[in-house]
Amino acid sequence: MLEDKNQEKTSLSELGEFGLIKHLTKHFSSYHKTTIKSVGDDAAVIDSSEKQTIVTTDLLIEGVHFDLSYMPLKHLGYKAVMVNLSDVYAMNAEAEQITVSIAISNRFPLEALEELYAGIQLACNTYNVDLIGGDTTSSTKGMLLSITAIGKANKEDVIYRSGAKPTDLVVVSGDLGGAYLGLQVLEREKQVFQVNPENQPDLDNYTYIIERQLKPEARKDIPELLKELDVKPTSMIDISDGLSSEIMHICTQSKTGCKLYEEKLPLDPQVISTCEEFEIDATMVALSGGEDYELLFTISIDDYDKIKGNPNLSVIGHITEENQGMNLVTRANQEIELKAQGWNSFKG
Ligand code: ADP
Ligand code: MG
Repeated sequence: MLEDKNQEKTSLSELGEFGLIKHLTKHFSSYHKTTIKSVGDDAAVIDSSEKQTIVTTDLLIEGVHFDLSYMPLKHLGYKAVMVNLSDVYAMNAEAEQITVSIAISNRFPLEALEELYAGIQLACNTYNVDLIGGDTTSSTKGMLLSITAIGKANKEDVIYRSGAKPTDLVVVSGDLGGAYLGLQVLEREKQVFQVNPENQPDLDNYTYIIERQLKPEARKDIPELLKELDVKPTSMIDISDGLSSEIMHICTQSKTGCKLYEEKLPLDPQVISTCEEFEIDATMVALSGGEDYELLFTISIDDYDKIKGNPNLSVIGHITEENQGMNLVTRANQEIELKAQGWNSFKG
């Protein structure tokens, strides 16, 4: 888990910038006929045809968004792609291309970048996206990684945050809170390790939540499933900052309120047991944890029968009129106002 200091090291200066880019990108192949020109010219060329183009970017900074003492570089590369694809799928679009820009200090050898690109490539192969370009530069300190994803959708298929209507059901895929708890476990083990490097952690009880933190998957399967079920969500968003702040985005942009039910929130047993161990409230974690990369969406109540009982989907509440506010109904049947305790970079 923790950084291996005995690897082979090749200084980046041995390759030079062009040699480096060539070396890192040579094993990538293209899947889409819309990719006309990828890495190698001044810019990439995409054939956009008659569809709409969906574009999204995320910037990740060492020490702010990731900690390389427990985040292996291959996982970082994979996750950085997932974060972007998740946004494309949340628009109900198909992801087709990515660009990858990196800034790196000379503390990183070539082998570190090979690991990073191995993760990026695994993500590209698994999710069928083409790496079409990027930029490479040096930084005075640490690593910065910025990925842009480009997708395509028919105009009538794009789903915005703004389409929810009163009486619509609020639905979430998968389960919530795991990624945040995985991070808490990794942070704790890092501190134990710093005190005593001989102490190798036993993480068997936390495999699911650690995987949720280190190797999240974007829910490409959910828009596909909904299409099969003949359900078109009225609004959709991906959960990067926590359920609470995401449902608030939907309500604000749709000019509605909502009522969520505590007892309906989907929690993995490992989330529940780890919350007990850390003495934190599982509902708080589900509402504010973040980084789950599940999809949150609303559907017409007429579509309820089509999704009922599906193991990938949980109905967690419904949309109300705006003047009713945004509330959580607790197990004790009390209504409390939702707060956006999103897990963002500016916190604390
Ligand atoms: P320019 O000087 O015109 O910006 P670069 O030398 O930066 O060109 O890039 C040359 C080619 O390599 C371009 O196609 C660019 O998109 C691609 N590229 C540069 N850096 C990366 C990277 N980190 N990952 C993938 N492709 C890259
Ligand atoms: Mg450049």
